[in-house]
Amino acid sequence: MFNSEQIRSDFPILTRKVNGHQLVYLDNAATSQKPRQVIDALSSVYEQFNSNVHRGVHTLSMEATEHYEDARRKVAEFINAPEPETVIFVRNTTEAINLVAHTWAIQNIGPGDEILTTEMEHHSNLVPWQKVAEMTGAKLRHIPVTDTGLLDTSQLDQLINEKTRLVAVVHVSNFLGTINPVKDLADRAHAVGARILIDSAQSVPHMPVDVIDLDCDFLAFSGHKIMAPPGIGVLYCKRSVIQDMEPFLRGGEMVREVWFDHATWNDIPNRFEAGTPNFADAVALGAAIDYLNAIGMEQVRSHEMEITKYGLEAFQSLEYLKILGPADHTLRGGLIAFHSTEIHPHDLGTFLDQKGIAIRTGHHCVMPMHRKIGLPASGRASFYIYNTTEEIDLLIETLKAALTYFTKGSSS
Ligand code: PMP
Repeated sequence: MFNSEQIRSDFPILTRKVNGHQLVYLDNAATSQKPRQVIDALSSVYEQFNSNVHRGVHTLSMEATEHYEDARRKVAEFINAPEPETVIFVRNTTEAINLVAHTWAIQNIGPGDEILTTEMEHHSNLVPWQKVAEMTGAKLRHIPVTDTGLLDTSQLDQLINEKTRLVAVVHVSNFLGTINPVKDLADRAHAVGARILIDSAQSVPHMPVDVIDLDCDFLAFSGHKIMAPPGIGVLYCKRSVIQDMEPFLRGGEMVREVWFDHATWNDIPNRFEAGTPNFADAVALGAAIDYLNAIGMEQVRSHEMEITKYGLEAFQSLEYLKILGPADHTLRGGLIAFHSTEIHPHDLGTFLDQKGIAIRTGHHCVMPMHRKIGLPASGRASFYIYNTTEEIDLLIETLKAALTYFTKGSSS
């Protein structure tokens, strides 16, 4: 049973005041807040078994290793990865994608090949592929986005062809909110012998994601958006794809044997985790997964759908704001981006902050898509398990007050 009050009481930060008002945190797509259970799990590492992993025969080191590997098992189960070894701990989504770009991609992509992304990609899933194209002589192509914020799949047969080596696509857009048909794209990619990478930064924290069902080759997400600390992220790779991949970073722990002039590589996942890993934050990520599992990801998704539906309807009362992305809440993740011809988003963001309401304003690291629709920036309210319809009411009320304030010059 989903109990908002109970959930909210687990998040100490939600009791704080901002500018004299109760905090309303609606910037979850940027980063999420952390429940007491995650904060405690992080403290427990430093209070009880802090020690370097995979290195010691002493008790603390063995305990730290056990907790670290336990976190890997939890992540694997959470995304239904067939084995924990296919889960590589990295810093964040950006590093996960760069890892694939600088290992699998440069080893498997050559001149004349094609890399396909979409027009709605976060810079993290675009700029690395620009570099790979430059390094390999491959061509970078983009699936267009329709006026309604969906992927235009009408030209897919031509866009995914025998030259395509990789389809790199965002699962849920952090700007338009669109949920993309990644399973279908995976089938199409595989049909021409290409691989698919899914940027799951905005999906894994918010809905059930099953890598076997999606049949993806690579999947990336960040711990900080799923209630864990920043500095821990995940790259899932199909074993058959990374088994023989060259390492990304070189140094301790990723080697099997080292001589003065050469070295051999460890098995996965260690081969891709050079140096001391962020075991403390990995343990906290495991605690965040425990927390979400206790609620159930179906419940998380339905709560966010409810909030988003409520928000989309409520925004209709604000004639000066135009909502971006699909109108149907079932086609979107839990976020709503909007723009106004009357008021700059930064002014709106600052006005809301004065009332304790945190939203994101700017280009949200999706500059090309903003450029395509002729906007320098937009506002974005993004939701998580602790948000309520009362908070949406407050957002709408304050956005109404902002119009009066900015257009009539009176304070409210
Ligand atoms: N992809 C998407 C869709 C995102 O929303 C984000 C974060 N805003 C990223 C990638 C990058 O995540 P990180 O900064 O944690 O690497």
